[in-house]
Amino acid sequence: MTVRTGRHFLQIPGPTNVPDRVLRAMSAPTLDHRGPEFAGLARRVLGALKPVFATSGPVVVYPSSGTGAWEAALVNTLSPGDRVLCFETGHFATLWRDMARSLGLEVEWVPGDWRHGASPEAAADVLAADPGHRIKAVCVVHNETSTGVTSRVPEIRAALDDAGHPALLLVDTVSSLGSIEYRHDDWGVDVTVTGSQKGLMLPPGLGFNAVSDKALAAARTSRLPKSFWDWTPVIEANEAGFFPYTPATNLLYGLDEALRMLAEEGLEQVWRRHARHAAATRAAVRGWGLEVLCADEREHSGSLTAVLLPDGQDADAVRKIVLERFDMSLGTGLGRVAGKVFRIGHLGHLNDLTLAGTLAGVQMGLKLTGIPVGPEGLAEALDHLRTD
Ligand SMILES: *Cc1c(COP(=O)(O)O)cnc(C)c1O
Repeated sequence: MTVRTGRHFLQIPGPTNVPDRVLRAMSAPTLDHRGPEFAGLARRVLGALKPVFATSGPVVVYPSSGTGAWEAALVNTLSPGDRVLCFETGHFATLWRDMARSLGLEVEWVPGDWRHGASPEAAADVLAADPGHRIKAVCVVHNETSTGVTSRVPEIRAALDDAGHPALLLVDTVSSLGSIEYRHDDWGVDVTVTGSQKGLMLPPGLGFNAVSDKALAAARTSRLPKSFWDWTPVIEANEAGFFPYTPATNLLYGLDEALRMLAEEGLEQVWRRHARHAAATRAAVRGWGLEVLCADEREHSGSLTAVLLPDGQDADAVRKIVLERFDMSLGTGLGRVAGKVFRIGHLGHLNDLTLAGTLAGVQMGLKLTGIPVGPEGLAEALDHLRTD
């Protein structure tokens, strides 16, 4: 048995570290989910969620992973055979596309190189070529967690508006909400999908849909089969502070506390903190003489950095050494970039010294794997943290 001392460093881009305050809040006794105390909790949480999505509309909360919330977004708004426009930004966009296909939707797929976000120019071209408005929804993964690339959602919105195209805009913010600037209402998003275990600093187990009026209207005529995922009974029951089934009560206690923490820090500051940690991480990667996977300066992710290793180097070997020697988990390469990249998660409950420790562990792990990096990487990151 290996004896571990101190805390494990969980620096994957989700699940993220859960603050002690949130853990304590969840350790409350189970309560009657049909009683008045629960109704108070539910009303408070459902209200406090709105500013985090920057919406005045309803937010539907499911006892599910983010994948469930993807399905909810599709089945509530679309009908069999509808066309949806999706962009190959990486692994998660590909999984969401596969789900759309398996639900009986037709997918218009814009190929990508896994180093760029969803292309507003490609969106404009595809929408212009659809004067009959056969495309019913545009699906964008805001922060592609497999690549560390953040798509420019307002520019996709502008492409829809410029084309005068009525398709719904569905956005996955599983690894960006509560970390990277995001505005559901202002950006004209119809359904925002997220999950609990990344920027919201909770364990896995809650899925969310923030829903616009236009999406609610689409839900009234959508014909994809749905029952558990149907928004309507949830939104109705929520008005009285209840759910049509047993909700994940203790996760909601945790959510209540996590939302309080986000409000105390202030969302703008939360976004700034993430952007700053991301910039320090990129300084480290460049100091090591390595490449950040994201290839567009405008699209660097605030919540994670994918580090591309030179040909012939195995990224998972670095992760293995870092875990064995320093008790730190880094994100593995997914799909097309498996073995070529490792991912440093810097989202959620994190401060300067957590990041400094993380980057120190990465630097030592790279050297131990035989990748020739100097100490400049960590030094650059510390300079960034000290002076910015
Ligand atoms: C983590 C993640 C998901 C999947 O969420 P699960 O909770 O694992 O189902 C979907 N999209 C993005 C962008 C993610 O980061």
